[in-house]
Amino acid sequence: MTILSQLAAMRSYFETGITKPYAFRKQQLLLLKQAVTAHEEEIYAALYADLKKSKEECWVTENGFFLAELNDTINHLRQWMSHESVRTNLLNLPSNSYILREPLGITLIIGPWNYPFQLLFTPLIGAIAAGNCVVLKPSEFAPATSAVMQKIIEATFPKEYVLYVPGDGAAVIPEMMNHFTFDHVFYTGSTAVGKLIYKMAAERLVPVTLELGGKSPCVVEQDANINIAAKRIVMTKFSNAGQMCVAPDYVLVHVSQKDALVKAMKEKIIEFFGARAEECDHYGRLVNTKQFDRVAAYLTQGKVLHGGRQNRSDLFIEPTLLDQVNPEAAVMKEEIFGPVLPILTFSTPDEAKAIIAQNPNPLAFYVFTSSSAKETFWLDAIPAGGACVNNASWHLTNPSLPFGGRGFSGTGAYHGKYSFDTFSHKKAVMRTPTWFDPSIKYPPLKGKLKLFKWIIR
Ligand code: NAD
Repeated sequence: MTILSQLAAMRSYFETGITKPYAFRKQQLLLLKQAVTAHEEEIYAALYADLKKSKEECWVTENGFFLAELNDTINHLRQWMSHESVRTNLLNLPSNSYILREPLGITLIIGPWNYPFQLLFTPLIGAIAAGNCVVLKPSEFAPATSAVMQKIIEATFPKEYVLYVPGDGAAVIPEMMNHFTFDHVFYTGSTAVGKLIYKMAAERLVPVTLELGGKSPCVVEQDANINIAAKRIVMTKFSNAGQMCVAPDYVLVHVSQKDALVKAMKEKIIEFFGARAEECDHYGRLVNTKQFDRVAAYLTQGKVLHGGRQNRSDLFIEPTLLDQVNPEAAVMKEEIFGPVLPILTFSTPDEAKAIIAQNPNPLAFYVFTSSSAKETFWLDAIPAGGACVNNASWHLTNPSLPFGGRGFSGTGAYHGKYSFDTFSHKKAVMRTPTWFDPSIKYPPLKGKLKLFKWIIR
């Protein structure tokens, strides 16, 4: 069966209406939970093979993260599916109005390699919960994890309901998107490929969610708790060897605190990963030599304050702090996506804002400060997808918050109820009784302007 005939079969399946009832959706979510739980050890082994992730890291950022979101969705599904009553304006009384969330249809979810399990399966929760059929396209660069996910999906769901399509994205995605009209495409990955996806979708007016990357700045103010800032920045920056979309990309520290921050960060790196991170059992690796070479090149674009050791055959780059980076260097123009952290200083907020403005609309923005006035100032000053105050990256683990970018870092959002909404169409419904039907609403309209102005104001 060709991919296009599989998609046609999926369309017929969806049109039977089988995916719509609450009981069906809930049952599929429970089956998914059962399958993922049963494959827990295989998932750990695969993520270790692909990215050298420890079980603990996997639980927090991959399968445990996914299961928490799945449980939250199962618990709230009935409530999310219920009609949402809204106010009816004077013009339309005594009608009543509500929003009906209906499935979009056939959705395509495209994932990247850095959190290969979580970033493909978490949007799947929203798509199933909202009553859709789903095509899953994993990244080809995390092959062990992809093989386990394929096994889970194919053992759990019929192909016309959830179809797993591995392979080279540049080949299989155009083959589908240029010949089949999806009802939604949910893409997580680089901005460069995101643009290609957006163009293909535009040809068929397919709505998209784009979860892209970007350079997420981390401002450390003069009045910040430096020890806490160092600990939290080091923890998230070097998790998964820096290959996290919301990792702090670079630090902008107030000039008066630079030495204290650097000293504290060096201590934290050693405390968390040891003096020889290559021997640490929970420090990750770059995913492949292409990514290794790209990140290793950044090490020459500043003065290494800490770290800098590398081993290409092991895809290892030490947690590295970089000083004296030129704002024109690639390391300050591209998303780093690796364990290299430039430390820049500022004296005035305007200086810091000018540096951030060179890479607008970051996916996330972080500020460390003990002043609520500075917190308000910074949150207001930087347009970003999301933000943390005195923290970094953790906002994405709260399913009550929408997760997504803006502009260059993406469009749309998901997690929790926001995923359900992303994969649902909000149908506006007005129900009008027949017992009341004033003639004033009907032609001839001449002479009714004064009344209309009173009603519509
Ligand atoms: P990528 O763009 O290379 O690949 C993502 C997906 O696109 C893969 O499934 C791949 O097969 C497919 N693809 C690749 N080339 C294609 C083409 N020419 N046509 C169609 N599809 C193609 O991204 P990546 O390197 O896997 O992921 C890293 C990027 O993703 C980083 O920029 C990171 O910031 C971003 N990211 C964003 C988020 C987020 O939630 N916003 C999360 C993780 C990663």
